[in-house]
Amino acid sequence: MDNAVSIHPVIDRGTPREDSGFRGGTLACKCSQDPVQVRVDAQVAHNHACGCTKCWKPEGALFSMVAVVPREKVSVTANENKLDTIDSGAVIQRHACRDCGVHMYGRIENRDHPFYGLDFIHPELFREEGWAPPEFAAFVSSIIESGTPPEQMDDVRSDLRRRGLEPYDCLSPPLMDVIATHTAKASGALRA
Ligand SMILES: [Zn+2]
Ligand SMILES: [Zn+2]
Repeated sequence: MDNAVSIHPVIDRGTPREDSGFRGGTLACKCSQDPVQVRVDAQVAHNHACGCTKCWKPEGALFSMVAVVPREKVSVTANENKLDTIDSGAVIQRHACRDCGVHMYGRIENRDHPFYGLDFIHPELFREEGWAPPEFAAFVSSIIESGTPPEQMDDVRSDLRRRGLEPYDCLSPPLMDVIATHTAKASGALRA
């Protein structure tokens, strides 16, 4: 069964090649008129497919594609007035275009959060190519919460592996280690 599932339109097609000289670009929402534009002056890190129910996903996709960049490298350059905050109480505040629904960037305002200082973006929104492709798949089991039948999960996981995206049901081990290290330093279990 080749291509039985659609992970994400860009990942299904094969993500464009990483350019070692890529230093960022402009994210644009899907509005044909007056798109929101966000300038990102950095290569992305930890790009991955995410199965959680909070990330923005293109129509029909099981997964989002999401990566992080330093928040000081992110600036809204056009049509900021179209941005709404999805859930101002959430850990990650997702700033979305109110006309097309695309999430432009997610920001953590809690300084004690392990990922404080990093913004979450969707690299497929770059007008430029060269961004680092996804490395793994996170929160894979969560796609069941969006309605994927559990019987399909074997196919989904093997499809992800076939694409070189190791499936995890939370984040990847390096990122889980970052979170645990942060927690241990806060509690004193590890020296800060
Ligand atoms: Zn829009
Ligand atoms: Zn997610």
